Amino acid sequence: MRSLVLIGHGSHLNPESSAAVYAYADLLRQRGLFDEVVEGYWKEEPSLRQVLKTVRYTDVTVIPMFISEGYFTETVIPRELGLGHQGPVPPQGVARVIGGRTVRYTLPYGVHPRMSEVILARAREAYPAINADDTALIVLGHGTTRNENSSKIVHQNAERLREGGEFAEVHTFFLDQEPKVVGWRQQVKAKNVVLVPFFASEGWHTLETIPEDIGLTGEVTVFESDLEAEPGSQPDYAQTVYYSKPVGTHPAIAEVIIQLAEDAHGASAQGDVERGHQEAWNALLQLASDTLRLGEVIVRPVEGMFELRHALDEGKANEGLRTVVTPEGVGEQVRLDERGEYRPVHTLRSLARGWRAVLCERDLPRALHLLYPAVVEESYAHHHHALRCTPWAATARRQTGIYAKVQKATPQQVESVSNDVCGGCLKTRLWAGEALHQTFFSGVPGGIPCAEACTLLVAEMREEVTGKRGQGAVA
Ligand code: SF4
Repeated sequence: MRSLVLIGHGSHLNPESSAAVYAYADLLRQRGLFDEVVEGYWKEEPSLRQVLKTVRYTDVTVIPMFISEGYFTETVIPRELGLGHQGPVPPQGVARVIGGRTVRYTLPYGVHPRMSEVILARAREAYPAINADDTALIVLGHGTTRNENSSKIVHQNAERLREGGEFAEVHTFFLDQEPKVVGWRQQVKAKNVVLVPFFASEGWHTLETIPEDIGLTGEVTVFESDLEAEPGSQPDYAQTVYYSKPVGTHPAIAEVIIQLAEDAHGASAQGDVERGHQEAWNALLQLASDTLRLGEVIVRPVEGMFELRHALDEGKANEGLRTVVTPEGVGEQVRLDERGEYRPVHTLRSLARGWRAVLCERDLPRALHLLYPAVVEESYAHHHHALRCTPWAATARRQTGIYAKVQKATPQQVESVSNDVCGGCLKTRLWAGEALHQTFFSGVPGGIPCAEACTLLVAEMREEVTGKRGQGAVA
């Protein structure tokens, strides 16, 4: 029995930021190759600090859903998962036993050799008439002068595709390092040019920066010969650029993920159900088989199924509520509040009303996981005096990069910002010394522990320390 965990970046601002990771997780769930597929995020919930508590099995493969190696895959994710590893991840990955689970951390999907096939598939979609006489391929990466690894993979893929011989020319260009894509016409000779962005998702770069830098007008752009251009600065004939979608959103990425997980798994023994996790969910189902009040919702048995609805909708006629019947349907209801604002922290007291979910016993845990990520596991541990808390000072000390500044926050700033941010949250701040004597497991609906400051609070604290708080939404 084995769990697969996909790790995405996520966002405190943009509900679409995690869409690709959710979509791949769903696809892999439908394929049924893993006993469980779970998502975890740097800037959303379940957080990287929580996600391993939420998996059901003792054999866990963790795949960073990033397009290249770098700060997140080598520093942030291993640190937050507690892998005890920092720096480049070896090709075979890193395996550790954490909290009774064997955790195998892989390289990001973007560095897998099969990404060359995905680039080729994107190129063929954009220009089906590719031929080795008159078609050039441009693999376009972001690039950064801070980390050579991020461009290395773009060059490696270009080399593989060059060897494949399908294109007259294969070039690599970047947005933020040399060779920059703005000068592509000085180097690309072929009349037909397929441009494939080696990016994880559709976004600001693929929709705006790249088209603007190059002068693209759509999926197909004809660049006429410029008779006034410097001799030799560009071909003296027209070139047509076919612009593909980014590689990271191609369905074949699912195959790359499966391959990565298989490579990481090797010939190891299969895992079991993790005992503490099972006990927590058995206790939850026991309560729900009568009536359970948890946070802002009420769960009760209805004709062999479970019904979930906002506690303030208790007593409302079913006809007056929107009915969903899948965990994903519940996920859709809880991402935004009633004003359509994004809820990056799910325990904020802003759950929208007006819906109900009817779910079978098998689907209830996933629906509750999407509603209140990691809340069942952490509350059950607290109920049994087994939840470990991380005080603010330790959370601050752990931060690196742009968040290292939070170490400068004074106790007054910590108090004031957390009062502000946490004031609207159901959770009790154990990390700040608050006491929680009873949880929803003993009948107190809002009895939910917060074991450590969440990333929204850390981001707000950074804004405070840098004097920018209140000047705009946090990243
Ligand atoms: Fe809620 Fe505050 Fe904990 Fe974040 S740090 S989860 S806002 S109590």
